[in-house]
This record gives sequence, structure tokens and C-alpha cells, in this order.
Amino acid sequence: MEIRTRLMELSGRKRWSDFFTDWRVAANCTDLGDYYFFARDGEQASEREKRECAAKSICAECLVLDHCRRYALDTAQSHGIWGGLTGSERRLLRDGPDSDGIADNSIIQVLNTI
Ligand code: SF4
Repeated sequence: MEIRTRLMELSGRKRWSDFFTDWRVAANCTDLGDYYFFARDGEQASEREKRECAAKSICAECLVLDHCRRYALDTAQSHGIWGGLTGSERRLLRDGPDSDGIADNSIIQVLNTI
């Protein structure tokens, strides 16, 4: 199937030009709600790790990952998984390491894969 046809199906848009006006129409997470992408009150560290891992898997297959990540960085989204990155990872990308020059090793490992 032609990619253009597939994108139109995914987006539910009738005009090709509509697809470019809003990248969200082709997002993998459109019908998933916040469950995987945002922390819940009282969430334990192990729960957060599993949830974020699941969210990142969804993002990894998303056609608009780059648009989403750019949007999150440009608009300084501080919470949730956007474009496969946590808020901490986006902050590090945007601002660099902490003033002491030390960044969390797990974050550096993630950023090295981008
Ligand atoms: S990259 Fe992730 S958060 Fe962004 S639109 Fe795609 S699935 Fe949603």
C-alpha cells in the first residue's frame, strides 16, 4: 500500500493537505489516552519504569515521532512522554547537563541512541 494512502487512512483526513496541518492525526497514541504517557498519583518507581517503557515502545513505532519530539522541545513540555522522551530527557537535550556537569547515566544512554 502506498504510504500516502496509509497515512490518509491513519489520519482519517479526506484531503492530503490536511495531513500536513496537524501531525497529531497520525499519532500512535491518539486513541490511548494518558495511561502510558503521564504519571499517576502515587505511582511507584517500578510502575513508572514499566509505564514509560511501554510508552516508549509505542512512540518507537509512531510515524510522527520527530514532529512530536520537536513540538515538545519547542513548547517546553515538562511532563509526560513525548516523542519517546521523558521530561528529564527533554530537559537534558534542551538545557544540557546540570550546572555541575553531571547528567544521569541512564539519560545519557537513552540520548546516545537518538
Ligand atoms: S511519538 Fe509518542 S507521544 Fe508522540 S505522537 Fe507518537 S506515540 Fe504519541
